Amino acid sequence: MSSPTPLRRELLISLGILFGGVTLLLGISISLVLPFLRSTGETMAFILVIVAVDLVIVLTFGGWALKKNLLEPVDQLVRGVKQIADGDYRHRLELPNGLELRSITESVNAMADRLIAGQEVLAENVRSLDETNVMLIEARNEVIQAARLASVGTLAAGIAHEVGNPLTAIIGYADVALRRIEADQGDPELLELIRSEAHRIDGIVRGLLDFARPQSDEITPVRVDEVVAGVRELLETQGRLGQIEHSWTLDEECPPVLMDPRHLEQVLVNLLLNASDAVKDVDEPKIEVAMWSEEGPAANPLRRRGDDPPGVNYMHRRRVARAFAVESLGSLETAHRVVVVAVSDNGPGLPSADETHVFDPFFTTKEPGKGTGLGLFISARLVSGMGGRIDLENTPDGARFEVRLPEATTVKDSTVEQYGAVGARYSEAIDRQEVE
Ligand code: ADP
Repeated sequence: MSSPTPLRRELLISLGILFGGVTLLLGISISLVLPFLRSTGETMAFILVIVAVDLVIVLTFGGWALKKNLLEPVDQLVRGVKQIADGDYRHRLELPNGLELRSITESVNAMADRLIAGQEVLAENVRSLDETNVMLIEARNEVIQAARLASVGTLAAGIAHEVGNPLTAIIGYADVALRRIEADQGDPELLELIRSEAHRIDGIVRGLLDFARPQSDEITPVRVDEVVAGVRELLETQGRLGQIEHSWTLDEECPPVLMDPRHLEQVLVNLLLNASDAVKDVDEPKIEVAMWSEEGPAANPLRRRGDDPPGVNYMHRRRVARAFAVESLGSLETAHRVVVVAVSDNGPGLPSADETHVFDPFFTTKEPGKGTGLGLFISARLVSGMGGRIDLENTPDGARFEVRLPEATTVKDSTVEQYGAVGARYSEAIDRQEVE
């Protein structure tokens, strides 16, 4: 494309050339024809004809020059602007030759670019607000759940205390009575039943106590792979996995998680014993334990960064993140990385009606004396105390429980690497790092 020239100059040159040519033509024709004209009337008629011909030439070529240089580009500009104004922000105007029109066209194209960028910023803000909304809903549900669990915990502690003491006495008396009956060579069957049922109640009471006291002073950043390896050793030494084929995939690179390691041990032992119960009637029983780490939601920006889209505001996200971090050890919502431990088995899985009840207290399908129905209930509570979550994936090919735990460092790229009192430090770190 030729380089743009000012429209005014272009028009002046075209019209000037046209006018000059026409005047020259007029002069030449008059000077050539004039000697042959005999009367004034003929001369006047000839001049009129020649002026008319010149006018036609001026109007035709002048009009053409105007149309080509001004009217057509303006029409095209108007059509393009209208198309963009109607919402087709991706439409771009073709650049005309005239400098002035080209400058208008470039401004309109740039304006359309800015409209698209504005739309993207708006969409990002809405997306970010949506995510924050989901986080808030989850947080509210967690708070409700925590409050419910806290009151259940108080009740459980009370019951466990009131029932526990008389129960220990009953078991003691049953033992004494059994020994006497055995000495008198009587039938111990009924007493044995009493003792075994009392032990069952004792198991439930201990479970309730576990549930009521999940807090711990032993909270440190813990390597999850070491806990999983410890659980494997424990179960193998005790022969709890019997003939079951079991595979363990550990990831030593996973980030540490803030917790009391005994809590995670308890959760994993429970999941593994449930899995081994589930596969006991299967021909080729298999249990798989796998762990890995994955990106957490906080990999999304919590604060302004160099590559944040201009105009996008993540303040609400930062505020929510701060609230989460102050409330708990860490949380899945604010973690940069999440450590996952999955326990899968090739048992029959659960009937779909039971899926929603597995984490309920006292839900058990095991025969009396075998299960209390408190294992998963307590496990869920312990995991939630670590800021994590347990999910069940149930298929006819088996059940799979996934424990998700937030990494210990909630502020990854900061100078703050202390793990204790994470919430307070996290807030300070965010304050220090805020760019806005
Ligand atoms: P308990 O083991 O004392 O029954 P839990 O809370 O640990 O209590 O488990 C509750 C119930 O969930 C079990 O009775 C069983 O029906 C079901 N369940 C747990 N794990 C599995 C599994 N891996 N496969 C099938 N069902 C399971």
